[in-house]
Amino acid sequence: MNHRSLAFRLALWYTLLLGATFALVGMGMFYGLDQYLHSSLRDSLRRRSLQVEQILEQGQAVVSSAQISDAINTRVSPDFNNRFVRVTRAPGTLIYRSGPPADRSFDPGAVPPIVGTWPDDTVVRRTVTVRNQRLMVNATRIDTPSGRYLIELGSSLQSIDGLQDRLLALLGLLLPVLVICAAGGGYLLVNWALRPVDQLSQTADQLSLQDVTLRLPTLRSGDALERLSIALNNMLERLGRSVQNSQRFLADASHELRTPLTVIKGELQELLRASGGMAPEVRDRVGSVLEEVDRLEHLVSGSLSLSRLDAGEATREWVEVDLPALARATAEQMRLMAEDRGIHIGVETPTATSIGGDPARLKQIIVNLLDNAIRFTSTGGSVTVRVTGGAEGSLLQVVDTGSGIPEAALPRVFDRFYRVDEARSRENGGAGLGLSIVQAICTAHGARIEAESRAGEGSCFTVRFPPLRLARPVAAPVDPPLKS
Ligand code: ADP
Repeated sequence: MNHRSLAFRLALWYTLLLGATFALVGMGMFYGLDQYLHSSLRDSLRRRSLQVEQILEQGQAVVSSAQISDAINTRVSPDFNNRFVRVTRAPGTLIYRSGPPADRSFDPGAVPPIVGTWPDDTVVRRTVTVRNQRLMVNATRIDTPSGRYLIELGSSLQSIDGLQDRLLALLGLLLPVLVICAAGGGYLLVNWALRPVDQLSQTADQLSLQDVTLRLPTLRSGDALERLSIALNNMLERLGRSVQNSQRFLADASHELRTPLTVIKGELQELLRASGGMAPEVRDRVGSVLEEVDRLEHLVSGSLSLSRLDAGEATREWVEVDLPALARATAEQMRLMAEDRGIHIGVETPTATSIGGDPARLKQIIVNLLDNAIRFTSTGGSVTVRVTGGAEGSLLQVVDTGSGIPEAALPRVFDRFYRVDEARSRENGGAGLGLSIVQAICTAHGARIEAESRAGEGSCFTVRFPPLRLARPVAAPVDPPLKS
């Protein structure tokens, strides 16, 4: 579980709030019940006390204890009602005391008398504890023709205490269960509510400059999420239009530049061929202009290739390609260029393997990687093309013993127009687009390219192709190449 996630934090707050609410409701219930039970008992004691008061007030001036006891036993029946009754006449003569209650919840003889002077207030309420039993006792002082009396009426708090204990136990058990259920339910609910956002981010992940037509699902929720998905789609629409415009501009510009460049190059070559009377200095200048035009032509054709690849032309054709045969044939074509520079070119294809793709584009991958390997390896070095296949797909590797790439530059070699050593690349005609083209073709074929290199020791470029599939893949997002 991700503790920093929105779902977790929302569920946590929800649980805390719900837990606090449950605790407050539980406390309120407990306090309310406590008040209700105590006030009912107080009322009941008060009523009984009034009955005793009536008995005493109705008596004549001289009334015997036996008569009072009989009247109380008959009209109040304290033993049967589990009540405690004690009547004392001033200055301290015990007139009546009830017997043990039917439920044996307390011992009437053990209830301590009110110490000191009788209360000034007519009614005094107290709670006494007799042998671990709590009793609520009301003491009422009355003046009658037969004298001043103190009537004490009490009842055990055992049943109220028992009820409260049971309620506390129930709340103690129920509260954690409710909080756990609320936490689990809250987490599921928040996750469910955030599922549309997940859907949005999954689709957003698939967006790439290669497929500017992809749109996010519009959530018909009528709230901020719906407005967000519509706003994002509008933004994607505008972005897509501007990407398409710049791709079209680059393709058009490259295409338009090609014809005048070819004409200029042809004219310059013609000029050099017919340069009989030309001063050597002018000849040299024309020669160097021709070199620049060559470079420009290379740059323009690279840009045109890239813009075509960006427009989704990397897989115009889709057939089964024998990768080892393609590697052997391409290496053979480039052998002359390598041997001219004194570089040995080797091919290793130990296993037969096929992949699905556009043969012309796949060949361009091998040509560009080999071209770089040959250009950046000095005389006496070697370049090896290796193709292997297995259940997980095919592997194409181009290994050289050349100058290598410094560690700091390795993450950037696939960037457009990036060259490690600009002066050296310019010398051998590089425009910094070769590896970008390779990467774009790889992405369109569902392959990943990795570069390993050590400055001064050589480089190894590895392309991992997925297993053969004869259906053209849907446009995949551009993954950053793996570098090590
Ligand atoms: P360029 O057309 O300039 O070679 P690339 O995109 O093919 O552009 O390569 C980018 C840079 O990566 C090159 O300028 C070069 O410095 C470096 N590079 C590519 N391949 C190799 C290699 N096999 N050995 C050494 N450096 C390489």
